[in-house]
Amino acid sequence: MTPAKLLTCITLTALLSLASAPSHAMDPGSHAMAGGALGLKLTKNPMGAFLIGLASHALLDVVPHTNPPLKSPGTQAYLVADGALLYDAWRRNDHDPRIFWGALGGVLPDAEYLHKGQKVFPTHNGTLKHGRHLNKTAATILMVVVNGISYRAMW
Ligand SMILES: [Zn+2]
Repeated sequence: MTPAKLLTCITLTALLSLASAPSHAMDPGSHAMAGGALGLKLTKNPMGAFLIGLASHALLDVVPHTNPPLKSPGTQAYLVADGALLYDAWRRNDHDPRIFWGALGGVLPDAEYLHKGQKVFPTHNGTLKHGRHLNKTAATILMVVVNGISYRAMW
C-alpha cells in the first residue's frame, strides 16, 4: 500500500468514525492492529506475540478512550477497514505468524463481551481500572493515531 492509499484509508475511517454516533474509539480493530504490530516488533515467536497482544489489550483499555457501539454502521465500517489494513500488513510481511497471533491476542479479550455474565479479563472485571471516557473527537483522533502507528510499524 502506498502512503497516499494509507492516508486515504485513514482519512476515510476517521470520517466514518466521526459520522457514527455515539462517540467511540479503541474498537476491537485497534486492539488487533496494536497487538499485531507489537507482536511483530517485540518478539521472535508466535506464542510470545500472542502474550504481548494480550498485554497490549490491557494497556489500551487503561488509556482514556471510549468503547464503540459495535452495532453502529460506522464502527462496522471501521472494523472492515482495520481488517483490510491488518491483512495488507500480514501479506506484505510474508504472512508472518507473529502478526496473526499478536492480533489475535490483542482482540481476544473483547470476545467475552459476546456473552453476559462475569468477565475474567482484568480491565473488564474491574481488577485494573478502565480508562476514563473521552469525547468523540479526542477518542477518534486517539484511535486513528493508534491504528496509524501500528500499521506503520508493520510496514
Ligand atoms: Zn477490552
